[in-house]
Amino acid sequence: MNAPYEVLLYYKYARLNDPQAYAASHRKLCEGLELRGRILIASEGINGTVSGTKGNCAKYRAALDENPLTMGIAWKIDEENGHVFPKMAIKVREEVVTLELGDEDFNPVDLTATHLKPAEWREAMKEDNVVLLDARNDYEWEIGRFEGAILPEVPSFRDLPKWVRDHRAELEGKKILTYCTGGIRCEKFSGFLLKEGFEDVYQLEGGIVTYGKDEEVKGEGYEGECYVFDERLSVPVNRTDGAKVVSRCRHCQAPSIRYRNCAWMPCNAQFLLCEDCENAMGRYCEKRCKEIDLMSRAAVVG
Ligand SMILES: [Zn+2]
Ligand SMILES: [Zn+2]
Repeated sequence: MNAPYEVLLYYKYARLNDPQAYAASHRKLCEGLELRGRILIASEGINGTVSGTKGNCAKYRAALDENPLTMGIAWKIDEENGHVFPKMAIKVREEVVTLELGDEDFNPVDLTATHLKPAEWREAMKEDNVVLLDARNDYEWEIGRFEGAILPEVPSFRDLPKWVRDHRAELEGKKILTYCTGGIRCEKFSGFLLKEGFEDVYQLEGGIVTYGKDEEVKGEGYEGECYVFDERLSVPVNRTDGAKVVSRCRHCQAPSIRYRNCAWMPCNAQFLLCEDCENAMGRYCEKRCKEIDLMSRAAVVG
């Protein structure tokens, strides 16, 4: 593809002593380059995903690469035909990923597990006494994950510490390989696992996205697609012959990676819906939503 736009995904754990001031200058930079997306800034670093023209994205990358506070970012770059965000939102938060450890909080600059490059990860997955631990939310691993991974049923990242404490037996004495979309959550989560006393912990450098782009491993061992937090909703990972779809349409159970939001606005739930079912019964997560929606529409008209 030779498209005119780029989508950048990146993070950098750092020490930003004045996150508000950093955010103000960052906002100016992004406005000047007409970027759109979402950026979180905290004293522990920066986490962002933005879209823009190729030229402006290059200038943005150069600006961050030249700044001593943020240099050394491993950029994930996709080509696109246009913006994949409706606007730009830059927010200052307590953390760049919300683990909410409170008094036990730490900066991954000080504590994180060993990184494995894609090829090292592929080999480590095949070892005995290994557990793969998905560090993402349930709606993310629903459409794709590494084969055989432990999939914690947590709706958000902040629920993972409790999950770990409740499931120690599954992890104790094992070599733990943990992964997430782009690597940022694992920097923190793997540090948390070390703090909890697990000793043999590793993380996938650059996350699933980097693993899928790697020309040597080509996403081997990953099944389904990778959920992403923009209008694309998911991107392919496994480019080997073994690629398969692991998620199913909520209504008919046919293989599907097609996320939609329930058309009844008060519900608006995100769910998997195949094209046939959408054509047959509309964009509703369940029958009840459809009934209420049609009734309320009739009431407005009538
Ligand atoms: Zn269906
Ligand atoms: Zn619904």
